[in-house]
Amino acid sequence: MSTITLSNGTTIPKIGLGLWQVPADEVQANVEQGLEIGYRHFDGAAAYGNEEGFGAAIRATDVPREDLFITTKLQNSDQGYNEALAGFEASMDRLGLDYVDLYLIHWPLPKRGLYIETWKAFEEIYNSGRAKAIGISNFMPSAIEAVLDSAAIAPMVNQFEAHPSLQQRGYEAASRKAGMAVEAYSPIGHGADIANPVVEEIAAAHNASPAQVVLAWHLAQDRIVIPKSRHLERMQENFEATKLELGTEDLSRIDALESGIRQNADPETKNS
Ligand code: NDP
Repeated sequence: MSTITLSNGTTIPKIGLGLWQVPADEVQANVEQGLEIGYRHFDGAAAYGNEEGFGAAIRATDVPREDLFITTKLQNSDQGYNEALAGFEASMDRLGLDYVDLYLIHWPLPKRGLYIETWKAFEEIYNSGRAKAIGISNFMPSAIEAVLDSAAIAPMVNQFEAHPSLQQRGYEAASRKAGMAVEAYSPIGHGADIANPVVEEIAAAHNASPAQVVLAWHLAQDRIVIPKSRHLERMQENFEATKLELGTEDLSRIDALESGIRQNADPETKNS
């Protein structure tokens, strides 16, 4: 499995299975199917309301824990130093795990102004060894700079929305400059970008699916991708995108699809 090495030496598989909008009573089966296909990286969050089933699948599998990469995120209502420490404990209780591989601040919520003190709690969690890596999500360049200015431990990952129609090159450049690996969420545009005729044409030329083309485009640029699917055949198809190699012309044609269309909230204005 292809991996990226984070700034602290931890390795993260370049493809993971996203768990947002996987219902709580389905998530265990979804993660178990993912494990069977070969996924070793799973992207959850307290806010997804499905950590119990997620953790149950991880506890039940025969795959050694050290071969898995488990991410969860602090929910927005738990920002603040003490609140973040308590929020982490609550996630660990729901997951039933001794440690997570990556713990993220889900959103910066700039107007609330709590992410710096929240980060202090994250540093403490990291120093305890119960999160093997810590990072941020949806952090825009100004918030990245503010965290770096006060951090004792720099974040290792920034996870943000990125797909052909919203590439967020500014977020990517600021994240990489700060030494972070880049995780693209909603990597196929929440499903929207795979209907693009250019993507369809490239897919036909490679005898691949449009989703595989978009995922291969991300992977060629060293982004980690976390596509979500509740369908076995799509989960399989997405996982196999790691085998598809696109040429420079294909990559440039997809680069040209930027249109500024966002599928999720704007981190600059989201405040709850
Ligand atoms: P994706 O870009 O992964 O798209 C998911 C949608 O595309 C679903 O409707 C899915 O349908 C469909 N789909 C998946 N694979 C295929 C395929 N091969 N062919 C056709 N349709 C397909 O969007 P998400 O928004 O779900 O993002 C993925 C993950 O990113 C989330 O699950 C979550 O882990 C993370 N995320 C993080 C956020 C953050 O704030 N940090 C915000 C949003 C997402 P179906 O399930 O029916 O197959």
